[in-house]
Parts: sequence; structure tokens; C-alpha cells
Amino acid sequence: MQSTEADAGARASRKAAVETNKLAKRLHRQVGQAIGDFNMIEPGDKVMVCLSGGKDSYALLDVLLGLRARAPVAFDVVAVNLDQRQPGFPEHVLPEYLAARGVPFHIERQDTYSIVKRLIPEGQTMCSLCSRLRRGILYRVASELGATKIALGHHRDDMVATLLMNMFFGARMKGMPPKLVSDDGRHVVIRPLAYVAESDLERWAQVRGFPIIPCNLCGSQVNLQRAQIKQMLREWERRYPGRIDNMAAAMGRITPSHLMDRDLHPFTTLQATGVAHAEGDKAFDDDACSDVYTEQRLPIARSPAGEPAAR
Ligand code: SF4
Repeated sequence: MQSTEADAGARASRKAAVETNKLAKRLHRQVGQAIGDFNMIEPGDKVMVCLSGGKDSYALLDVLLGLRARAPVAFDVVAVNLDQRQPGFPEHVLPEYLAARGVPFHIERQDTYSIVKRLIPEGQTMCSLCSRLRRGILYRVASELGATKIALGHHRDDMVATLLMNMFFGARMKGMPPKLVSDDGRHVVIRPLAYVAESDLERWAQVRGFPIIPCNLCGSQVNLQRAQIKQMLREWERRYPGRIDNMAAAMGRITPSHLMDRDLHPFTTLQATGVAHAEGDKAFDDDACSDVYTEQRLPIARSPAGEPAAR
């Protein structure tokens, strides 16, 4: 009996080790792929990794260090934390972690918390001003440290959620780019976790035992819109696995001729060419009777006479 239990325990731990190994490989492969696809890191770069103490930025630093150890290109990493003087922030956690890992680091202490508290009336959201202040400070620190790239820990799910938020609440198809030039025009910001699923980062944080710092120290309310979108994405993913991946992939495969932005496609001057296109419209429109017009799926509004009502 005892040996059966011991065997089961051994099998479970072998299985867990295999899963962890797969996860490690996937994370390194996806980050390496994103870096390559968007030419995020070049030889001689000094990459400033912004470390908040959350799971995503810990994982970013961890995977970048792993890749650097075997990368064909030589680059430096410096970790930077902006201590915004939020009440209860455990100042010792990040320096101890970084020193133990032998990572060069810089802790920038700036009391943006008091500024934000003073300027934003009670009950209103502080995030916009807070993140603007943080961005400015991080850009300055990057210049002072001679960093050529600023790496942020946003991941695939953040990018998809941002796209949906901009569509739902901003009426704009705009996401979160994997690489961009900073607002001051002086830095290149990169998001090497662009292909990584949040669920993998959660598991990796457990595997690696990162000393996570809680993210509610500022006392700001959760962004309800973002929380709703994330919940919706999680629910979709649960019911239709792979959906988030498809949405993320779609951001890299855009067909301007099948959207409605007149600046991206010359709709107003389109003329028949007289030449058949091998793929034509059919390459994209395989659901001519889309759900919107299909009675069985979504009842069409009808006039009293039973005719479809004018829309
Ligand atoms: S959640 Fe808090 S720390 Fe984060 S941006 Fe908002 S106010 Fe700033």
C-alpha cells in the first residue's frame, strides 16, 4: 500500500517536472521569437528591464537572463525599479532578490504617490497621472543609465485586452505595440512578452517562487473596464480554447482592404481592374450569410406582415 502511494507520488512529481520543463522551453522560445520578429534587441544593447515586483516583470527579467546566457548576440541587462513611495511598499524585497541573482540594478525613489494624491480628487482614478509621471521618470533613468532599450512586462493577454478596450470604449482599432519609440523620441520601448500567455506567467511565477509585491498599495480602484474585458477573454478562452491566441495573431495579419479606414485603403478611388484576382474577396469572406443576417441564429426583426423590417 505504502509503495503504491510512493509510486503515485513519484509519478506525479515526474509529470510536474516534465510540465515545468515544457513551460520553460515555451517561455524562452516565445520571448526569443518576439525579440527576433520585431528586432527588439541588437548586439551591444543595454536593456533596462522595468521591474515592478509583479509576476510579469519578474518573469520578463528571468527569461531575458536565461536567453542572454545562450544568445548569439551580446547584450547587457540592468533592472530598474521605481519606488513610488506607496505606503507599505517593502523596499528590501527587490534589492535582495536582484543582489542574490547577481543582476545589476538601480532603485529610483520618487514620491509620485504624494503628488498624485494631492492633485487627484478623492474617488477619482489616479492611474493616468501616476503612469504619466512614472513614464517620464523611467525615460530619464534610462538616459542616465545609458540604456538603449526599455523593456516592459506587458504580455499577449494585455495586448489583446488593450485592443478590445480601445475598440469598445475608444471606438478605435489600436492595440499595444511590441516595439515603439517613446513619447520623448529618445528611447525604444520593447515588450518581449508579446507572445506569452498570462496563464503561463502565473505558473512560472509559482515555479520560480518570485517574491511578489502586492499591486494594490496605492489604494487605487481596479480599472473596471479592463477587469471586465479580461474576464470576458478568460471566459471565451475557457469555452473556445485558442481564441486569445487567434486574436493576438490577428493583430499581426491585418487586411486594410477589408476594414473601413479610408486612410489605409483607397476606397474612394477604387475602380474595377478587369483582371481577375486569384484569391479575390473569397479569400476572406467565407461567411457571406454571417450570423447577423442568419435567422436561425439571430432572429431578424420582422414587420407585422412578416417581411424583414428595414434596418
Ligand atoms: S494602480 Fe496605482 S500604482 Fe498603478 S498606475 Fe494606478 S495609481 Fe499608479
